[in-house]
Amino acid sequence: MLKYLQPNLYVPSVNKIDLDKLKLYGIKALIFDLDNTLLPWRERKYSLLLEETIKRFTDCGFAVCIVSNARDSRVEKMFASMGIPAIIKAGKPRKKAFRKALHILRTRPDETAVIGDQLFTDVLGGNRMGLFTILVLPISRREFLGTRLARRVEKPILKHFIKKGVISRPRY
Ligand SMILES: [Mg+2]
Repeated sequence: MLKYLQPNLYVPSVNKIDLDKLKLYGIKALIFDLDNTLLPWRERKYSLLLEETIKRFTDCGFAVCIVSNARDSRVEKMFASMGIPAIIKAGKPRKKAFRKALHILRTRPDETAVIGDQLFTDVLGGNRMGLFTILVLPISRREFLGTRLARRVEKPILKHFIKKGVISRPRY
């Protein structure tokens, strides 16, 4: 079980992901979580900064898809305006939405990375699917109550992985 919660990489933010390294690992496509990974929780407004963040990945040749547990259809519209597919109501860590994303991206699980801020949705779901998993620090401290509770469980698990040396503490 614990193995399924272990991310392959732990970085401070999406901007700190080494794209050359990902290419070296054979990664061709990226599945992004939305809330507290790309935008602060519940932020739904288009921003140039967000578009530029995503452009850094697409310019490097990565196919990109958003997979979010959010239930807000504004998410799909916002990303459609950037030409990025978005799946909402994903029900992560369930596999269904990840499968759908792989179909859209046209990549195999071992060629695809998932990037998110939560162990029990993004990392667990990604590992169950056999994806490369990247954990980022949450953008904002504001979160859904359930998420705040999950953080209390995440903390000792991450500490354990860091102590074991399988991931390192994220540094800016
Ligand atoms: Mg999130």
